Amino acid sequence: MFRHDIIIVGGGLAGLRAALAAKDADVAVVSKVHPLRSHSVAAQGGINAALGSDDRWEDHAFDTIKGSDYLADQDAVEVMCRDAPHRVIEMEHLGTLFSRVDGRIAQRPFGGAGFPRTAYAEDRTGHALLHTMYEQAQRNGIKFYEEWFITRLAVKNNRCAGAVGYNIASGGIEGFLAKAVIFATGGYGRIYRRSTNSIINTGFGCAVALRAGTALEDMEFVQFHPTTLFGTNILITEGARGEGGFLMNRNRERFMQHYSPQMLELAPRDIVARAIQSEINEGRGFEGGYVNLELMHIGERNIKERLPGIRQIAMDFANIDPIEMPIPVQPGQHYSMGGIASNKDCTTSISGFYACGECSCISVHGANRLGGNSLLETVVFGKIAGENAKDYASSTGFPDSDIIERAVEEEKRTISNLLGREEGEVFFKIRDELKDEMDEKVGIFRNEQKLILALGKIRELRQRFRNVYVRDKGTAFNQELVNVIELDGMLEISEAVCLGAIARKESRGSHFRTDYPSRDDENWLKHTLVTLTPEGMKLDYRSVNVTKYEPKPREY
Ligand SMILES: Cc1cc2nc3c(=O)[nH]c(=O)nc-3n(C[C@H](O)[C@H](O)[C@H](O)COP(=O)(O)OP(=O)(O)OC[C@H]3O[C@@H](n4cnc5c(N)ncnc54)[C@H](O)[C@@H]3O)c2cc1C
Repeated sequence: MFRHDIIIVGGGLAGLRAALAAKDADVAVVSKVHPLRSHSVAAQGGINAALGSDDRWEDHAFDTIKGSDYLADQDAVEVMCRDAPHRVIEMEHLGTLFSRVDGRIAQRPFGGAGFPRTAYAEDRTGHALLHTMYEQAQRNGIKFYEEWFITRLAVKNNRCAGAVGYNIASGGIEGFLAKAVIFATGGYGRIYRRSTNSIINTGFGCAVALRAGTALEDMEFVQFHPTTLFGTNILITEGARGEGGFLMNRNRERFMQHYSPQMLELAPRDIVARAIQSEINEGRGFEGGYVNLELMHIGERNIKERLPGIRQIAMDFANIDPIEMPIPVQPGQHYSMGGIASNKDCTTSISGFYACGECSCISVHGANRLGGNSLLETVVFGKIAGENAKDYASSTGFPDSDIIERAVEEEKRTISNLLGREEGEVFFKIRDELKDEMDEKVGIFRNEQKLILALGKIRELRQRFRNVYVRDKGTAFNQELVNVIELDGMLEISEAVCLGAIARKESRGSHFRTDYPSRDDENWLKHTLVTLTPEGMKLDYRSVNVTKYEPKPREY
């Protein structure tokens, strides 16, 4: 058994920022992949902060709340936007090389923002930030458990006692006794097929938390990014539109003028994604289902200086040089607004258990996240989670190790049952069917009929999952076993998304119901909570924290 004051699950930006904040305690980071392979490394466009002398954090807060379609908790948004300039400057001082204009950190316009507020390092901002953070973690001697996969939380009397981990390299199962556990396990994008997320983003951390007794919040709010490369769905950053890119349909019409006359291509993501999908659905897209993103007019120099990664992606994966030709784009799943129900101090309903980053729902993004606010969330709330877990750990002793030992025994039984099964169904058929169902029926445009069919299908897949067998019986790098364990969680997460979406009879932010196309504040200005009961999943609701920004119609 391993023993640390604080265990942080996740080596992305949120987890590593938490580790730095808690470095004076005995802290260890557990990650199922090498930390530099976390999805944070793929972030492109930038990180928001009111740095400019003409910008104010209050305006950033207002843009975020309006962007969230008024579902974000306003007190939490205020915490984030007020702290943003400090966290971005701190990253610079720790070593991140941001792009610069006139000697200052460069900032570009991003969707839904009333000011060019997104600081960036070319179009590889996540890479620059995560490498800085990892260097700092190394420098401070943070202990890492790499390629350890956390499968279970150990909780007794509503107190977290640690977690159980599966060693992917050796097949061993061990307990991690801890006074506090922080989850920074990332989003659940890969329950969809068309997704910009790395394949490790299965949302398994959310499933583990749900099973341990916390609620999942606002799971029905899934962000679809307007511009992913047609076919592969690799992200084409909003920064491409921030730098002046146009969206064109097959009649070479700049169609955003019909959907958002003021902000055009820089309307929030939910609006642009619906516009593109409508153009495609109504026959004004190109064959196969895409529209064009034109960058040619912004010029070779700008493209090479500010969007080199995008140019490389377009050349490598579509054989297109955006200096000369438009990039074919279609919407794809991109971000998980929902997650582990957490407070603005990153606590959850279980004492000693904290969540931050994309796996948490604090909620600063509400029904629709603004681009550039997620990287920001990881550094602001990563720090808060680390500090609060450190304080908590210094005020309490180690929990009883029996709890962990029992949890390890249960996990050993579960895994040996799985490996012992000699016949049944292979996992990937179920996973493929799940992803197709989510793409088709729980996507940008939803309605009751489709959602109910999807829920039925997910429940059928959950039944079939009971009969899954693992063909690989090996102990070293048994990726099939890991995939099977994660699929179980993906099915649960998908059910939670569907249940929330069926119940929410309105359209708000990313959740668009063609059968209820308007926002309904009277009945639905509230957060969805899903918990697990012996009878299955149960829905509850919690009111939105409104401070000074009264909900208004959302026009752009
Ligand atoms: C292509 C792309 C581009 C983006 N661009 C931007 C952008 O420009 N600006 C912006 O603000 N946002 C952007 N985002 C969103 C943003 O990058 C993410 O929301 C953010 O980086 C998430 O950080 P995180 O630390 O919460 O999680 P992640 O970086 O996803 O890290 C999750 C970590 O958890 C670990 N983990 C998960 N489950 C387990 C388990 N069971 N056991 C052990 N370890 C586990 C993983 O190994 C990993 O280390 C982008 C997202 C994508 C997909």
